[in-house]
Amino acid sequence: MTAKIIDGKAAAAALRGEVAAEVARFRTAEGRAPGLAVVLVGDDPASAVYVRAKGKATVEAGMESFEHRLSAGTSETDLLALVDRLNADPAVDGILVQLPLPPQIDANKVITRIDPDKDVDGFSPVNAGRLAIGLHGFVPCTPLGCLKLLRAELGDLSGKSAVVIGRSNIVGKPLALLLLGDSATVTIAHSRTKDLPAVVRQADIVVAAVGKPQMVRGDWLKPGATVIDVGINRIEGRLVGDVDFTSASDVAGAITPVPGGVGPMTIACLLRNTFVSAARRENFSYGKSL
Ligand code: NAD
Repeated sequence: MTAKIIDGKAAAAALRGEVAAEVARFRTAEGRAPGLAVVLVGDDPASAVYVRAKGKATVEAGMESFEHRLSAGTSETDLLALVDRLNADPAVDGILVQLPLPPQIDANKVITRIDPDKDVDGFSPVNAGRLAIGLHGFVPCTPLGCLKLLRAELGDLSGKSAVVIGRSNIVGKPLALLLLGDSATVTIAHSRTKDLPAVVRQADIVVAAVGKPQMVRGDWLKPGATVIDVGINRIEGRLVGDVDFTSASDVAGAITPVPGGVGPMTIACLLRNTFVSAARRENFSYGKSL
């Protein structure tokens, strides 16, 4: 193995520390804590684990966590009414509705209803549009975490060739736009891309956000490439990414492990977005490195 391992856990701990320090300053100046409302509908066990982890991290950063657990049979009207109440609540700076939602609820309708200035997940059409045209808004947490890891590893991304594999609205598309914003030359590859290994071999930066265990192999990579593995797949009771770590780490210059790479950055970026929302709403100035 020759690649440097990009330590997402350490990067996330550092970001969380920075957020906590800013939150402490905010509380002293504003006399209140930033607040994150998390809404969970139903009892999907994975979603319950995520919601618990988000609530715990929010409190650890010195912020207030408001958890709303609704039954699986909740109507769309009732969920929209809750979103309206949270939009109007001055103690709530960020609103997150955990996906997936049960079939009787149109997730797009719910996400669109969240006040874009409280949409700390960055999934609303307004925030997607802001990202596309380079306005301040909220960027989805996983792609933001990937961008932060890449900047920390490579510094200036300008002119670098980046291939993002996956075009989801949650990861691939926003990440491609973020990389473009940093002046990388960006290719988005997806399930219909022809000769994916040849496309990947051109790239200085490879991001895999596919959901196919160990799909990207070492012999697809340009030697020295920086590899960000977003995938979380469970095989034989263990977690693996979308990149075949063993073969890739013989060729890459640097690579994120799974677990311990992108995953921890996602929650850290959610805390960051929540604090930034509170700061924007109160005109509170904060460190640019966030
Ligand atoms: P998705 O299913 O919405 O999108 C997958 C994308 O991969 C699609 O755009 C599709 O075109 C592309 N794809 C599918 N098969 C392909 C193939 N053979 N070759 C090339 N492209 C192909 O998934 P998503 O929500 O973007 O998530 C992707 C992965 O990232 C999943 O494993 C998910 O669990 C993981 N994820 C991790 C985090 C985190 O915090 N680390 C957050 C979100 C998602």
